[in-house]
Amino acid sequence: MKPIKMVDLVGQYQRLKSLIDTAVQEVLGAGEFIQGSQVKAFEAALSNYLEGTNVVSCGNGTDALQIAMMALRFKPGDEIIIPVHTYVATAEVIALLGLRPVFIDVREDTFTLDVDQVDHVLSDRTVAIVPVHLYGQCADMEPLLRIAAKRGVAIIEDCAQALGAGYHFSDGRIMPAGTIGEIGATSFFPTKNLGAYGDGGAMFTRDSDIAERLRMIANHGQRVKYRHDVVGVNSRLDTLQAAILSVKLRSLRNDEERRKWVARYYDTHLSGIRQMELPVRVNYSSHVYHQYTLRVGAEYRDPMSAYLRTRGIPTMIYYPTPLHEQPAYHLPEYRSGAFPVAEKLSRTVISLPIHTEMDESQLSYICETIHEFFAKRE
Ligand SMILES: *Cc1c(COP(=O)(O)O)cnc(C)c1O
Repeated sequence: MKPIKMVDLVGQYQRLKSLIDTAVQEVLGAGEFIQGSQVKAFEAALSNYLEGTNVVSCGNGTDALQIAMMALRFKPGDEIIIPVHTYVATAEVIALLGLRPVFIDVREDTFTLDVDQVDHVLSDRTVAIVPVHLYGQCADMEPLLRIAAKRGVAIIEDCAQALGAGYHFSDGRIMPAGTIGEIGATSFFPTKNLGAYGDGGAMFTRDSDIAERLRMIANHGQRVKYRHDVVGVNSRLDTLQAAILSVKLRSLRNDEERRKWVARYYDTHLSGIRQMELPVRVNYSSHVYHQYTLRVGAEYRDPMSAYLRTRGIPTMIYYPTPLHEQPAYHLPEYRSGAFPVAEKLSRTVISLPIHTEMDESQLSYICETIHEFFAKRE
């Protein structure tokens, strides 16, 4: 059996080697390392994949969130509502821009923000809500869109983990994650479902004026070289990364199928373990399985992780500490117990290996080992 990894970037490269090497050689031969033609080509291909939404690439997913907030002209002191169970980037850029992150709890079954709690924290200073489509499945957008429209606040989707997922509206329409709110922000960090060989990110919007502003801000606030209309940042997608991403984008649908196959395998072979809950699938979103995340009793979680590790099976905890318990984001009003679901999840979630290179022997070994762990504790 091949060694089991959380993600197998080397294995994936070996599979795509000739295509990737050719694409990289082309960039090296042309010498246009910044904003070469491959960047535009990748943006166009991704736009096509996202049903024609404007795509503006940038340096990474964190920048994508920051540039989105700059483009919507938020002012210091403005409040942005975010789930407290997420990656730190979401809160970080809000703080960096002098805005105020306002946390809300998530739902235990879906891991995404609890829409019913938005009303409690909306204020006159609220300018945006940032749903995070965690682990590969969309947050419930329809009620959120309703609240946002009523209160005149923007929605910025953090779809770093859900590129390729579709949100299903009650009237039957399906829209790609990241194209539903004013702006979607995604990441091409190597381990993401569409990963570069370094950092990369992109923003999506259906509004071409916003797209233009995003593009300007990502490139020093200039539309024309050496004319700076607004304060911007230096955040561009490398030509090399764009060339690599174009190759990988072509197999993204197949990669998704592979991830779904892994998830189905886990579903089938791990069902019936009483101490464990399998990922819940909602009817309003497809799932692209950035992570396959289980919930187990807090008393089992760390022992299970250690048991699997000594048997060559890595696992990850996303995320071990909710944002309000992080020193950098702690506020007096956010005492322990303020967000009981996120706090519970930080002690009970565990993500299993899931990627495009997994085979049946690895999966069967992982499932047997998990059964063995719980059998010993009966
Ligand atoms: C990865 C990730 C980001 C940040 O992306 P980077 O490219 O690493 O800056 C933001 N939000 C979420 C939910 C992520 O998973």
